[in-house]
Amino acid sequence: MPVDNAELNSDKQVIIVGGGWSGLACSITLIKAGYQITLLESAQNIGGRARTIKNKNSTLVLDNGQHIMLGAYHFTREIFSILNLDEADILECSPLELNMFSPEKQTCHLKAPGLPAPLHLIIALLNLTGLSLKERFNSILFCLKLNTYNYKLENDLSVKQLLIHHKQSEKFIKVLWEPLCLATMNTPIEYASAKVFLNVLKDSFTNKSADSNLLFFKKDLSQVLCSPAIDYIKENNSSIICGEKVTQIKVNAISDKDLSLKFSIRTNKSNYHSQHLVLATPAYISDKLLKNCTTQIDLIPKKASLLYNYEPIYTIYIQYPEHIQLAHRMTGFFSLSQNIISQWAIDRSLTGQDGLMAIIISGPGEHTQLPSSQLVQIVHKELLSIIENLPDFLEYKVIREKRATFSCHIDIEQQRPKNNTSITGLYLAGDYTDTSYPATLEGAVKSGVLAAREIIQQNS
Ligand SMILES: Cc1cc2nc3c(=O)[nH]c(=O)nc-3n(C[C@H](O)[C@H](O)[C@H](O)COP(=O)(O)OP(=O)(O)OC[C@H]3O[C@@H](n4cnc5c(N)ncnc54)[C@H](O)[C@@H]3O)c2cc1C
Repeated sequence: MPVDNAELNSDKQVIIVGGGWSGLACSITLIKAGYQITLLESAQNIGGRARTIKNKNSTLVLDNGQHIMLGAYHFTREIFSILNLDEADILECSPLELNMFSPEKQTCHLKAPGLPAPLHLIIALLNLTGLSLKERFNSILFCLKLNTYNYKLENDLSVKQLLIHHKQSEKFIKVLWEPLCLATMNTPIEYASAKVFLNVLKDSFTNKSADSNLLFFKKDLSQVLCSPAIDYIKENNSSIICGEKVTQIKVNAISDKDLSLKFSIRTNKSNYHSQHLVLATPAYISDKLLKNCTTQIDLIPKKASLLYNYEPIYTIYIQYPEHIQLAHRMTGFFSLSQNIISQWAIDRSLTGQDGLMAIIISGPGEHTQLPSSQLVQIVHKELLSIIENLPDFLEYKVIREKRATFSCHIDIEQQRPKNNTSITGLYLAGDYTDTSYPATLEGAVKSGVLAAREIIQQNS
């Protein structure tokens, strides 16, 4: 239902730059609170890093990387609910289950039973196959220990240091912890922040057992959030303008009479004015815009910075004949004796793409140096170890996202800026802001919602 905002003052109008999930979440939250927004997006389509791309030379409709959610993504699910989306239509919800395979035919299976948290995790660890009783006990002790200090650390350290400190064996780390760390943080365990990792574990494992569910999209990402968001924004007297790249922002002298002129926003096509401005662009773009801004803008806290290192994610989509399926929706790879490239394989039959596999490779590695033709051959060979009688693939597409996420390294928490800045009316949103989450859909959505709440609070 459209929100009635026929008689809006300029203090209820907001310009949002960037139509990724953070900008969309901010827009939707503000509209729901009675605001009118204008969303400026430089690309021809919204969605940002979580968008669907049209593949010119093929019929494949592909997401810009395979995305998976967790039950604990409550901010994102709240946005789905505002948009009136029926989760059963867009998400397949599966209780935590990890099936790990090695090319040497070793396996490890973790399956959470239908028990309350954290008992479900403890039983899952106890029943874990492929690891010794001692290794399983140590992992349970580790989880109990984390509970005693509420998953909080005074000083940050690497995930690997944390695991070794808690006597997790090399095998356990290789088989389970390392793939989990890469999947959630996209940062190698050698320097991934233990503090942020524990935030994810706490949210997933300590409240409701459903928080650790794995949520797989049943539709491509443009149908999941982008199309419903466009409808919602347009129905509510707000607008999305694609193909307009913001090139400069200016903080004007503030006149008491016309606060609506506080920010001037210049794009490649036009000029806009607003009293409230949200930059929901990636950190390196926001940094550039703020540095070119006519007024010096200090971020709070003082250590905050928008200069990040980035980690890549490679997604290799391989199309096989339609009858080819994975035994599990998601299969993990590990090896104790050789270098392998594939980390996770997802069967895309859920999105109606029978025979299509998405292979995920998170973080840096030798694979970034390989040409796509070679990469796909290696990945195909690794798939052969988990799918019997796998025929040749029909087509493939490698998506290389070199700056997929900020590097979630030790002490990253000290650097992440809050959503408000030292300039009243100027806000930051984006997965890199201080959300306590790594760069994820949930982090992006949470940042957008928090930025919107700051505006609403300031106006009340
Ligand atoms: C390959 C890949 C796989 C991933 N897998 C997962 C996963 O499984 N689960 C998960 O939770 N997360 C995953 N993520 C992370 C998730 O996609 C991101 O954290 C999230 O999409 C970031 O959203 P954002 O709004 O912060 O930024 P972005 O999506 O980067 O949005 C910023 C927007 O700003 C626009 N913009 C930039 N400059 C300008 C300008 N000057 N003017 C106007 N607009 C501008 C951009 O075009 C873009 O649309 C993955 C990411 C990648 C890349």
